Order: sequence, then C-alpha cells, then structure tokens
Amino acid sequence: MKRRNFIALVGTSLAAAPLLTSAVVNQLAGPKAIECKFPDLTYAFNALEPYIDAKTMEIHYTKHHQSYYNNFMAAIKDTPAANMSLNALFGSISQQSAAIRNNGGGYYNHKLFWENLSPEKSNPSTALSAAIDKSFGSMDKFKEEFGSAAKKQFGSGWSWLVAGKDGKLFVTGSANQDNPLMDVMEKQGNPLLCLDVWEHAYYLHYQNRRADYVDNFWNIVNWETVNKRYENR
Ligand code: MN
Repeated sequence: MKRRNFIALVGTSLAAAPLLTSAVVNQLAGPKAIECKFPDLTYAFNALEPYIDAKTMEIHYTKHHQSYYNNFMAAIKDTPAANMSLNALFGSISQQSAAIRNNGGGYYNHKLFWENLSPEKSNPSTALSAAIDKSFGSMDKFKEEFGSAAKKQFGSGWSWLVAGKDGKLFVTGSANQDNPLMDVMEKQGNPLLCLDVWEHAYYLHYQNRRADYVDNFWNIVNWETVNKRYENR
C-alpha cells in the first residue's frame, strides 16, 4: 500500500471511529516476516484441470512452496530480517543473503500465484480494464505482452503485471524467485498478477510446451484478486 493511501485510510478510520484497533494497524503495516503463515489453498488440487493438472498442483504446493516457506523461516530466524515487513525486506533484498532472497521470494510469489488462480470465471473491473487499456492499448495487447514475457523468460522465473510508482501498469519478467518489490529489479512496483514459468509449474502435463501452458493461463486467472490488488496498490 502506498504511504499516502495508508495515511488516508488511517485518517478516514480515525474520523469514523475514535479507536483504531491494533489488529487494523498491524494489518496496514503488514505482518513481520517471521509471522508470515504458510497459506491454505482455497481450491482442490484438481480444480484447475485441464489447464493445470492435479499432480502438478499437489507437488507444487505441498513440496515446492512448503520448502520455500520452511527455508525462508529458517533463514530469517534470529536475524533482523525476522522483524521486517515483507515490503521492507524485499525493498532491501540486495543487502540480504541469497537464502532470504530465494526462499523469501519463493514463499511470497507462490502465495500471490495461488491467489490469482481460480476455477471460477471472473472479469477485470472497469477501473482495471481502463488502466490496462491506457497502459497497453487493449486487453489483447496486454495479454500478448504478458504472455511474451512468460514465454521468453530464459530458464526459471516469473511473468508479472505490475502497478508502477508512476501510476502506469507494466509487464516484466523476473529470474528465479525475484519479484517486483525487490530493489534488485530494474523496474519496481506492486505486483497485480503473476505466472510461474519454472518447469516444475508445468512440465508433468506440458513437458517442453511452455507456450501452451502460458496461453491456457488466461482460462484460470482470478480477476477478482487482481481487481482488489489494483484497488489497494
Ligand atoms: Mn513454482
């Protein structure tokens, strides 16, 4: 959340009610890294079939994501990073260990990824559609640019739709488990939508056909999540 939105929200809450509860304050500030929880998956492993198969989902969530989370917690335990918010931690990731960068990114990126997938059909909001049109020309052009970033990402990485600090949306790829909140990224901002293009995300079903996996992604995007992220950017 941008600082001015934070201030505006606190101001509104104070005007509406005399007390701002500590729970609300903590939520706004973001939890400390060490307090981050391994998230529940809100749909079944087979819910995204035929686009992502059940076995891939099960291994990806219970093995890969769980390992990133466990290794992230182990890497920050008893270090100053434990008490930082994820935003602050990623904003200074160039000064952190490789273990924190890789596993912290792995934990956070997968959490975002599961949240922006759904078997339910949904649509971009009017506000998000307008922002996409303004930044990319049209929804089709945006999808082409996002898909192209995903297909041409060399080796392991991610494709992202990001709300930049200048208010414009942009698409970028990231290597390994880097994300747009990290100070090592050339262009930074708040992530709105992400796609995992590591081979572990698609290889069982698609083998070498990453392009098919990327094209099928649009069938299972949870636009409700993306709309909310855009509102709270
Ligand atoms: Mn993954």
